[in-house]
Amino acid sequence: RTTLRLDKVLTHMGYGSRSDIKKKIKQAGVTVNGVRAKDSGMHVDPYKDDIRIDGEQVQYKEFIYLMLHKPPGVVSATEDTRDRTVLDLLEPEHLAFEPFPVGRLDKDTEGLLLLTNDGKLAHELLSPKWHVPKTYEAVVSGDVTEADVQQFASGVTLDDGYVTLPGELTILRKEQQGDEVVSHISLVIHEGKFHQVKRMFQAVGKKVTYLKRVQMGELKLDEGLRIGTYRELTEDELLQLG
Ligand code: URA
Repeated sequence: RTTLRLDKVLTHMGYGSRSDIKKKIKQAGVTVNGVRAKDSGMHVDPYKDDIRIDGEQVQYKEFIYLMLHKPPGVVSATEDTRDRTVLDLLEPEHLAFEPFPVGRLDKDTEGLLLLTNDGKLAHELLSPKWHVPKTYEAVVSGDVTEADVQQFASGVTLDDGYVTLPGELTILRKEQQGDEVVSHISLVIHEGKFHQVKRMFQAVGKKVTYLKRVQMGELKLDEGLRIGTYRELTEDELLQLG
């Protein structure tokens, strides 16, 4: 088993910068297996050694998996020169793990966004090989019909000529707004082309005015999670991601 520098373990776990850790060690606030640590560069086994800060045991883990209920108006990137990013919504203790979003939602799209520092899992979820289904709910201006459902089921030709894989379109309800019909739908797609949902509706002459992702694979957005907030995945949810 590999060992890590003590300061590496503690910065990773969100206990501050390397110099914060150095200070803490100087103040006699850190013990390893009951012995006061003197050197922030000492090597420890983060899974086996009993590491404590001010008596509080450090429960080391390498990876973090966060479910964010993304609000509109923030971009799914780790940095951006103009806009707030989803990372701006995270607490320092979670940022310390250096998570990144798994895939992208448009700036104006809401809903389920996974953030992790587990590159392997992220890669698998995004791989075209696996076709992890993604479920969206949308409000579409115009009358979404059975013909559209059939069209989506056989694949839609996008503006660049690409023919999508079949998508499962369900009409949830329709409502009259003035002299216009507005359709509430859900759609499952098995790939993730740029602006895919919006462009699929554009291809049948309709416009998405609201878009929310509610599910990725088996993982459902926790509806109790207020918009703009997040939590760690449970063990069960992590297993659902395969
Ligand atoms: N399809 C879109 O058009 N936008 C998203 O954010 C996700 C899927």
